Amino acid sequence: MRYINVAINLPVKNLFRQFTYALPPQFDYIGAGWRVIVPFARKTAEGFVVGEAGTNLPQPENYKEVQDVIGAEPWFDEEMLEAARWLAGYYMCPLAEAMRLFIPGKSSIKRHAVYGDDGKLLYYELENRLKEKTQSCYAITESGRQALAAGNNRAKAQMAALEILNGAARELTAKELEAEGISAAVLRTLVQKDWCSRSEQRVLRDSYAAKSSVKQSFNLTDEQQNAVDAVSKAIREKRQEPFLLQGVTGSGKTEVYLNLTAAALAEGRQVLVLVPEIALTAQIVKRYQSWFKGNIAVVHSKLSASERADVFYKIRTGEAQILIGVRSAVFAPFSNLGLVIIDEEHDQSYKQEERPCYHAREVALHRAAYFGVPVVLGSATPSIESYYDAIMKRYTHLRLTGRPNGQPLPKVQIVDMRKELQEKNFSVLSRTLQQELVRTAAAGEQAIVLLNRRGYSTFVMCRDCGETITCPHCAVALVYHEAGKAMRCHYCGNTMPIPDECPKCHSKRIKFFGTGTQKAQEQIAALPEVKVLRMDQDSTLRKFAHEEILSEFGSGKYNVLIGTQIVAKGHDIPNVTLVGVLSADSALNMPDFRASERAFSLLTQAAGRAGRGDKPGHVILQVYDADNRTVQLAAAQDYDTFAQEELERRRELNYPPYAAFLKITVWDKDEARANATAQELADFLQNVAKDMDGAEVYGPFAGIIGKVRDLYRVNVLVKSAEIGVFKQALWDSPYRDMKNVYFDVDPFNVL
Ligand code: ADP
Ligand code: ZN
Ligand code: ZN
Repeated sequence: MRYINVAINLPVKNLFRQFTYALPPQFDYIGAGWRVIVPFARKTAEGFVVGEAGTNLPQPENYKEVQDVIGAEPWFDEEMLEAARWLAGYYMCPLAEAMRLFIPGKSSIKRHAVYGDDGKLLYYELENRLKEKTQSCYAITESGRQALAAGNNRAKAQMAALEILNGAARELTAKELEAEGISAAVLRTLVQKDWCSRSEQRVLRDSYAAKSSVKQSFNLTDEQQNAVDAVSKAIREKRQEPFLLQGVTGSGKTEVYLNLTAAALAEGRQVLVLVPEIALTAQIVKRYQSWFKGNIAVVHSKLSASERADVFYKIRTGEAQILIGVRSAVFAPFSNLGLVIIDEEHDQSYKQEERPCYHAREVALHRAAYFGVPVVLGSATPSIESYYDAIMKRYTHLRLTGRPNGQPLPKVQIVDMRKELQEKNFSVLSRTLQQELVRTAAAGEQAIVLLNRRGYSTFVMCRDCGETITCPHCAVALVYHEAGKAMRCHYCGNTMPIPDECPKCHSKRIKFFGTGTQKAQEQIAALPEVKVLRMDQDSTLRKFAHEEILSEFGSGKYNVLIGTQIVAKGHDIPNVTLVGVLSADSALNMPDFRASERAFSLLTQAAGRAGRGDKPGHVILQVYDADNRTVQLAAAQDYDTFAQEELERRRELNYPPYAAFLKITVWDKDEARANATAQELADFLQNVAKDMDGAEVYGPFAGIIGKVRDLYRVNVLVKSAEIGVFKQALWDSPYRDMKNVYFDVDPFNVL
């Protein structure tokens, strides 16, 4: 009899160990990488076979038997198993949890297993779900709009539902509404009152299938050709080599990706293209389709488990050679990978914020190394970490310094909003921006206005001189806390009262910052000839509508597109000649050591939207602190200087890439217990840190949202150039197995 080790696929945080089962002779054909059904804790569970435990173990009665085998082949090959093991170790999660990432529809497969009378597994409900073809959709009616306008304090849930329906650009499904906290009961009531309509609509399985377009061919520029040659060589030689493709906005990076993809296909190999989790997928897919027709599978963030299963199947069987997808696509079962491309490699959506908190770029680099293939990291504003790796020559640095048609980068103008105030312009729009919006509309051109809302109302700023209050120890903005009316540093926990006057200019007009989003929209709409369309990223709900909104805007019915961060991302709308950014410096005030990096990237991306057609672009950055270095460098579109100065600052403060962070979060419904556990943890880590050079342990302190769903959240943060020592100490400690202790390695948010 053989015995095998199995990782149990249950979403249990602390299931770090594996279990040994006996393998009945009829299943003797399976080995590591197969999925099995095993008895576990008086029930059955899905398990992943991770290795052999030997043959003829003593006391065989101690081991239960594998009940069944899932699938006709192992899901994990040697490479995938290795990647899962690495991920579990690096990101400090159970192996099963890492392995779940590679399975389409993690839990639905398990939960919906259907058994026959003989107790044998028959099939999975997953397959049934493929038949689901319609869904209920809701839209607000005219009387619903009236009811909303009239308002009703005693029907808050109904009003909230109407508000959402009213703000949506199209009909919404019950599921989307549910995600917004709208219950089926409320929807029934609304339909009864005729405040909203309900219809059954077909669910489209493949939203990309129908679209196709004509392939454009260009002669590559010298820089493009150079990049294509360098990477193609690595593809042909099957060489593991990371490349940083640093190219200004509109420099033709996508054109390079397409040529490289063709080169990999010519070698008979597969290509993974990762894209950020935003509406951009459609644009890149379209360009890929014009080159490679149906040889493409797509993973986007709204795929169901069964659709994801289809996509993975195409890659596994080689039915498709190219996979384009958001971060989870990095787990696809490639058999013959030849190239990985990561577009907008700096983008934050590559980092998963729920456990396991992996970064898709790191996983991609790891898998590519195993396959021995090149990785191309593309961006106009690379992450500081990647830039550092490039200048340290760990990545090969490729550059696209100009736009292919010789078109200049847009002209960027900084407008000082303090002067506007002094000169009695109380609008959120500067006079320059107002004039330019009107001029643009009159000329039949289009404009994008970015409301930089990130960080609003959490930081304290002087309205007169633009000074923000930062922590003297950590050089990040202090966060305003409503409770306690104090400011707190989320790195070191330092708390300070809100000053009565500005420490720099002594103005009394110092306060936490308010939004003005609504105001901006109204003021823009009031300008002559301006028809404004709005796009927002705050709710997942509206995320659905991005593509529709973009194509609506692209069609020319509107001349101004207004929105938050999302409007800054890489869409290519040739008629856009003006970009305005309101509070362009507010992203700098995030309580985050990456605040400058993010602000720089956002402003550069936003500026890159202007002048992509034949007409030159004009960008207006409205700021409160016109002297700010990051804003000035962004206006000059001088990434290299920015990155070098930022690296210098990070080196002085010992921030990544010179050190790494590890965040440990304790959740507990009892606040005192959460704090006590976190305090013990902090003491434990302090003890590790005491013999180490430059290692710091911060906290415990409450998370920025200190309490979520009645669970208190308390963080401890470690910063060290040798973070591995802390990881090992925790791994060997009882904290690893504690149900309510979570690890985030290289956190994006240290809050
Ligand atoms: P990026 O991905 O760097 O933003 P794109 O690949 O989207 O840039 O290219 C920007 C624009 O330039 C696109 O409209 C593209 O079709 C065009 N383009 C790209 N390469 C060339 C080239 N070699 N010659 C002419 N036009 C090009
Ligand atoms: Zn001041
Ligand atoms: Zn601090």
